[in-house]
Amino acid sequence: MALEQRLMDVERRIAEACARCGRDPGSVNVVAVTKYVSAAAAKRAVEAGMRHIGENRWPAAEEKWRLLEGRAVFHYIGSLQSRKVKDVIGKFDYVHSLDRLSLAEEVHKRAEALGIRVPCFLQVNVSGEDSKHGLAPEAVPAFVSSLGKLPGIRPVGLMTMAPIVDDAEEARPVFAGLRKLLEEINGMSLSDEPLTELSMGMSGDFEVAIEEGATWVRLGSVLVGHEENDG
Ligand SMILES: *Cc1c(COP(=O)(O)O)cnc(C)c1O
Repeated sequence: MALEQRLMDVERRIAEACARCGRDPGSVNVVAVTKYVSAAAAKRAVEAGMRHIGENRWPAAEEKWRLLEGRAVFHYIGSLQSRKVKDVIGKFDYVHSLDRLSLAEEVHKRAEALGIRVPCFLQVNVSGEDSKHGLAPEAVPAFVSSLGKLPGIRPVGLMTMAPIVDDAEEARPVFAGLRKLLEEINGMSLSDEPLTELSMGMSGDFEVAIEEGATWVRLGSVLVGHEENDG
């Protein structure tokens, strides 16, 4: 399937999911995850109308960033090692994977040196799987409070990855859990501004995530595809 066709398909599916739960499709942002494809294919994705690009590794993403700098908004969606912070911060516009204080301190330091504030999602391990990165849900309030001392970070919301399941419905409680946590955090007034964003939902489960309140879905296979079916 051609890129434009895939984009139209995804947009239709987002609109249908929004119609089922009474949401405005404009409230759902799409991050096109280009980690499976070449820089040339990522460029075609941007030319086809995808504005937000998601990558999960550095320096693997460097070529794409150099090619598309200024033409796309870059989202760092993978687990971020502290020693990569100096490379990633200043290039990527959003970090979706803030999951520990030591990393937050590094991001803050780098952001301050650059005179910027970096919008960050706090990654939460809602499902409790050992293999997943992220804060335990009960650790999130204290983490949000501690970010108050790190103005280089602008906390915008929460992110989670659901377990890989055959039936997306099985992921629903994880998405609902993240939304509930967001509401609880906002109820505690721990940050200057409320957290408004929920980054949740991938190719296999994004419609369910939207029904549960996702404001950012991160789509690779279903949208950008893999190298072998590219172009
Ligand atoms: C790879 C990846 C995605 C996209 O996965 P697909 O299932 O191909 O849509 C989304 N989020 C993260 C964090 C990823 O690493």
